[in-house]
Amino acid sequence: MSEFLWLHFSSDTLASGPVQPSAQLQFSPSLDVLPLASNSLPIQYVRHRRARRYVLRLTRQGTIRITLPRWGSKREAFSFAQTQHRWIEKQLERREANQARPWTNGTEIWLRGERLPIQIDDGFILLGSETIRPVPSDDLRPAVLSHLHQLASKELAAKTLEFAAMHGLKVARIFIRDQKTRWGSCSRRGTISLNWRLIQVPASVSDYIIIHELMHLREMNHSRRFWKHVESACPQYRDAERWLRKHSKEFY
Ligand SMILES: [Zn+2]
Repeated sequence: MSEFLWLHFSSDTLASGPVQPSAQLQFSPSLDVLPLASNSLPIQYVRHRRARRYVLRLTRQGTIRITLPRWGSKREAFSFAQTQHRWIEKQLERREANQARPWTNGTEIWLRGERLPIQIDDGFILLGSETIRPVPSDDLRPAVLSHLHQLASKELAAKTLEFAAMHGLKVARIFIRDQKTRWGSCSRRGTISLNWRLIQVPASVSDYIIIHELMHLREMNHSRRFWKHVESACPQYRDAERWLRKHSKEFY
């Protein structure tokens, strides 16, 4: 379910902190746009009853999203964003540099929990035991990505069906998607959507995500009952969550 974002990682970059009580509230024509040196970014405010402080994210789309605690105000949140402008600019720069870098011979890519170097051999791209179609251009990224996507479609769907059968669950449809902020989701109609990047993480971790989504067919929430189902089907699920917390950022 899409609202369960706390489990599903976010690739957004994050800053958080208290607002300096002494921060000057500068006049701004709008609280919805943050002016920066190079450009201005739209701001979205989201109130969260369990938030304890302001949390600022730079989304993949290049907008700013600020979580407000219950007691927070938009103006104070805006002021917090202003204090973070240098951090935001640095993130934007880093992102740009990262996106521009092509994948070439030697670039390391995650596959099944390992960082493997892309290798070119006799006109073919090799990644671990995978042979990818002949080298198309200087940038190997499109060919490698499309190969991984195909691999994911085959392997993750097969695994989902296997686990579903093992636990007597019925899946209506399986989608392998290019989700930007989630590892997986499950709809009330029984559709399981999985992020193709699950092919890149260790099998124990992708197994956990698949089981997690499948168990939502029993419990459409994160209640204690739900976690009992997860734990009995996947006793090491906490290790998988720990791995994801540590490494999620590396997949984008
Ligand atoms: Zn969930």
